[in-house]
Amino acid sequence: MERIQAFLRWMMIDPRYPEIAQAQYNELKYQVPSLYALLMVNAVAVAYTHFDYAPISLTVGVLAPMLLVTGSRLVVWLRARKNSPGPAEAIAKMRQTVFLGTVIAVIFIAWSLSLDGYGGPSERGHVALFIAITVTGCIFCLMNLPQAALLVMLVVTVPYLVYYTRLGEDVYIAMALNIFLVCLVILQVLFNGYGAFCKLVRSQSELALKNAETERLNAENERLANTDALTGLPNRRYFFNRLERLIEQVAGTNERFAVGLIDLDRFKPINDTYGHKLGDILLSEVGNRLKELAGPEIDICRLGGDEFGILFRGDIERAAKAGQAICDLIGKPYRIGEMQVSIGASAGISFYPEAGTSAHVLFDRSDYALYNSKTSARGRTTVYSDSHEARIRSERAIECALQSANLDKEFLVYFQPIVAIPERTVVGFEALARWYSPTLTWVSPDDFIPIAERTGLIHRLTAVLFEKAVQQIAKLPDALGLSFNLSAYDVTSPDTVETLLRIIRFEKVDPRRITFEITETSVIGSYEAAESCLRTLRGAGVQLALDDFGTGYSSLSYLHRLPIDCVKIDRSFVAGIETPPGDGVITSILNLCNSMQLRCVVEGVEESSQVAVLNSLNCRFVQGFHFAKPKPFDDVAGSIRDNGTVEGLPVAGVETVDHLPRRSNA
Ligand code: C2E
Ligand code: MG
Ligand code: MG
Repeated sequence: MERIQAFLRWMMIDPRYPEIAQAQYNELKYQVPSLYALLMVNAVAVAYTHFDYAPISLTVGVLAPMLLVTGSRLVVWLRARKNSPGPAEAIAKMRQTVFLGTVIAVIFIAWSLSLDGYGGPSERGHVALFIAITVTGCIFCLMNLPQAALLVMLVVTVPYLVYYTRLGEDVYIAMALNIFLVCLVILQVLFNGYGAFCKLVRSQSELALKNAETERLNAENERLANTDALTGLPNRRYFFNRLERLIEQVAGTNERFAVGLIDLDRFKPINDTYGHKLGDILLSEVGNRLKELAGPEIDICRLGGDEFGILFRGDIERAAKAGQAICDLIGKPYRIGEMQVSIGASAGISFYPEAGTSAHVLFDRSDYALYNSKTSARGRTTVYSDSHEARIRSERAIECALQSANLDKEFLVYFQPIVAIPERTVVGFEALARWYSPTLTWVSPDDFIPIAERTGLIHRLTAVLFEKAVQQIAKLPDALGLSFNLSAYDVTSPDTVETLLRIIRFEKVDPRRITFEITETSVIGSYEAAESCLRTLRGAGVQLALDDFGTGYSSLSYLHRLPIDCVKIDRSFVAGIETPPGDGVITSILNLCNSMQLRCVVEGVEESSQVAVLNSLNCRFVQGFHFAKPKPFDDVAGSIRDNGTVEGLPVAGVETVDHLPRRSNA
């Protein structure tokens, strides 16, 4: 019973195997037109030989509508060659073909056998031959639809056999039997072929499934490889690939696009203070906000750490505004658990092709613009411009001259006194680097120090300058101290720290006379390394000062955590000291230093009125052009009298460094 059901289901074109049905149909549509053509030609031939014997109603009268039907089916199938229908349509069409094929076979066999009653032996022979060759030809043509082949074979050969058996003519019986057997064999071969065909289709569809799965996995891998795990934004790899592709796309056209870089402000102190877990949550919150802004014309990626990259297309004149909108959006407060956290963001933008035509140049230019925002316009967006280009050129010239400079000969140290106001005495000097390049003449430390840092020359330069400064200060009375600036790269390098201490020992200078000035930003980048180097220095007896206080993060946590003895208030605060908000800032920093037992030096004092205000605020140590500009050592040494007093200051006298407060070595 089950077998019969399976057979019937198969005969009806089993819809459970849509891939087989579809493949069958796609093969069949090329065979069926031949079938109809064969049928028509053979039918015309047999009608022709019987034209004189059979009634015209049987030859022409029946043949004409038959040709009309088969002809129109031929056209339908020829047209079908162009289409590739889906499985459902293919199944429906094949069911139709099985049905129609059977009906046409019934009509043709009835017509052929009815012609057998007319004509002589050769005409009758023609009918037998017509049926035989037509049925075998049709079965061949239906090899991809064995259901139809089987029905056609049965519908034709069984009546054929029965008809001739009933006539009792041996030759025709033998012929009918022959044809029947041949058709059986052909069907057997056809079924074998059909079985192999089904196997092939199944294995192909399995292969296609596997390929689709592999493709899906590849696509997933590709997506993961291009996604930042923390924020879910596209990552650095995606950013650079996209940038390269954009450059290829717009090359040779008038299209422009913009490359933006965004760096979070105050993220590092928050990360240091509240821990990496909170830092991660904060970054993913930033990522969520940025995702809302991304769109078909804006790609926003996380490049790593707290840096994000943006690619703007479309109306790029709006890129600067969009950059600023992103900074403002990031700047809105975040609620993390019970805490409210605020950070900011600065951006740098460069345009293709004005700023550059390669990915790394555009990136560097945006980075340069970002650096400008970071240093002079925090929270703002800087667009890379011609003036930046000019500056880069001059920086390149400086870099070039620096690489080939004779450090010993070209670099000098100037000294600027640090003064105690109440006593009007000089307590020491800050050593400031000067460079006279044979090609560029005088170059300011603000220009060459960052380049020396970037090129890695700073360690050698620091050693050369410090050696000179120590050798010179050693010639002055012991009471005078030396303040020396260290760069971020020095305070994180144990080798440089070792070199500095070796110089102090070699020159036999009391380490307590030396103060190293560092800035908050130099420590923030790699706090752990800096802290251990600073503790080594301080352990050797030197003092540490936090320079330019008030311009960076001015984070109280650094004041507490770093082993410092002195804070140097940046000169930008002195300019407004005679107005209420200005003196408020200095007063609060002075109070803070007082309560933390830190020495405080106010830099950039240019006017006597400023000295008076600072005096009234109980500020003790100052430095600035009002007292003296940085000078070569010989000028400084010449102004120091034998008794240790300094010329040019209103009241002479030198305070010993031992009198300066020193913080406990916590
Ligand atoms: P800084 O350490 O804050 O040094 C003070 C700067 O302020 C010096 O500029 C000094 O000449 C200037 N200055 C002092 N008094 C006044 C004043 O009354 N008014 C004005 N307008 N300026 C005043 P300079 O020598 O150009 O040095 C600039 C910066 O370069 C320094 O800032 C320091 O960060 C860096 N630097 C200088 N020498 C060295 C060095 O040997 N090593 C390192 N790593 N950095 C150095
Ligand atoms: Mg300094
Ligand atoms: Mg300073």
